[in-house]
Amino acid sequence: MFDWLETSKDNAAPSEARKLFINGEWTPAAGDTTFDDHNPTTGDLFAQCADASQADVDAAIAAAKAAQPAWAALPPAARASFFYKAAELFTERQEQFVQVLIAETGSGFGKAMFECSLVPLALREAAGLTTREIGEILPSQVPGKVNRAVRAPAGVVGVISPWNFPLYLSLRGFVYALALGNTAILKPSEDSPVSGGLMMAELFADAGFPAGVFNVVTTGRDGAAMVGDSFVNDKRVNVLSFTGSTHVGKILNTACAQAFKPIMLELGGKNPILVLEDADLDRAVDLAFFGAFMHQGQICMSADKIIVADKIYDAFLEKFVAKTKNFVPTNPQEQTCVIGPIINDRQLQRITALIAEAQEQGAKVQSGGAAQAPFFEATILTDVTPEMRVWNEEIFGPATIVVRAESVQDAIDMANDTPYGLSASVVTSDIAMGEMIAERINAGMVHVNDSTVHDEPHCPFSGFGASGGGGKWGPKGAIQAFTKQRWISTQRVPHQLPF
Ligand code: NAD
Repeated sequence: MFDWLETSKDNAAPSEARKLFINGEWTPAAGDTTFDDHNPTTGDLFAQCADASQADVDAAIAAAKAAQPAWAALPPAARASFFYKAAELFTERQEQFVQVLIAETGSGFGKAMFECSLVPLALREAAGLTTREIGEILPSQVPGKVNRAVRAPAGVVGVISPWNFPLYLSLRGFVYALALGNTAILKPSEDSPVSGGLMMAELFADAGFPAGVFNVVTTGRDGAAMVGDSFVNDKRVNVLSFTGSTHVGKILNTACAQAFKPIMLELGGKNPILVLEDADLDRAVDLAFFGAFMHQGQICMSADKIIVADKIYDAFLEKFVAKTKNFVPTNPQEQTCVIGPIINDRQLQRITALIAEAQEQGAKVQSGGAAQAPFFEATILTDVTPEMRVWNEEIFGPATIVVRAESVQDAIDMANDTPYGLSASVVTSDIAMGEMIAERINAGMVHVNDSTVHDEPHCPFSGFGASGGGGKWGPKGAIQAFTKQRWISTQRVPHQLPF
């Protein structure tokens, strides 16, 4: 096993740059080019990683293409055994995954543990998927005919993933596709090449997955578009699986439409929490705090808009601000860290500009509001209006807005006033009312009496509109996304032809 934490101890250049994983081999990039991966808290070099070229991506695609038929032909129990083995090995190695998530991406300990807890669940779901039904028998209007709708693996899947839940979101991007008999090439984010890709390559290799079934190519930010273009335009890649920003998702979606290639998208969110007037106030504050500030708000499901019934607005705001002021940003190496660093300077500057612009336009800062690089204080804004960018754009940082709702209808209208539609929550003591409101919110996931941040691998994680257009990311959704369906009919008894 590699020591993935080796280089973060002394900020020294790694003894050897981290390599690509292609066709079961650790390979340097053609031309030996590398890019730097930094610890966001200290700014120290965390790793140097191979910066893949076009030739490397081509080699990874060729390996995935060559490995796919034999992988798909394995009996389901044989395919499943690799996922069970990976789950077992992951549990043994979890501590190192946690430490790398903390050092490479600024995850707090609790967030890293939560992320790791999802990994064995997803691996076991994938194992179970190998024997799920993949066909249907349909009635026929023609006597003696049998109609079958059967599914086969799509082939090769090109996967691109983000840095914020790098381990789990990379895994989710390909694990069910593999279980269904596809092979994959993963390009993790340049901010998390180790936790988002290379450690999983090692895990899958050690679990015995055959060479070429799972490949990882890493690139710096400048190389990402080249990988995206290859996945879109190379005929050997059959489906794309993208998790990341709406901006990049739109570029890839447009390119895939031109190439008539399917793409699974999981993008950003502008997620509301509706706090109704009968809500338990303390519970509502805790749910809002967790939703807004878990992983310093860098989660696609983060609660960006807390909509509170007029009757309890003042009391809610007072308690929410008081709680938030208790949490100052800290180094995520401290186990109690809740508000850790922002992933990179580009993101820190974007958040700072968004909050400053809102203030200039009349928004009031109730808590936080300032950057102390690499941190941004836990921030609550009020007096935000729909004309402000912060009303419409995903913040993706430790800041949220609190708004007053005059009625339940007003709260629903404000919740739906967004091009996104990922997650939402409703807090109320009237469960039936909460469920009825949930059905009127334009979001792929609505949680009654919980936070917007919630995931269970077997459930249909999905977003509407700018959040990804309705793709379902659970094992069941994967059957739709990563297999191709054929209608095969058999005429058992000759029928009357018209001429
Ligand atoms: P990003 O879109 O900048 O990067 C995501 C991935 O795309 C990275 O691997 C990056 O290298 C790659 N990429 C960048 N430019 C590319 C291009 N032109 N072609 C192909 N690939 C390219 O997003 P990020 O900053 O890593 O993550 C933050 C965003 O991701 C937020 O908007 C967040 O909401 C979203 N996100 C969504 C989910 C979800 O499940 N809905 C989960 C996590 C993150």
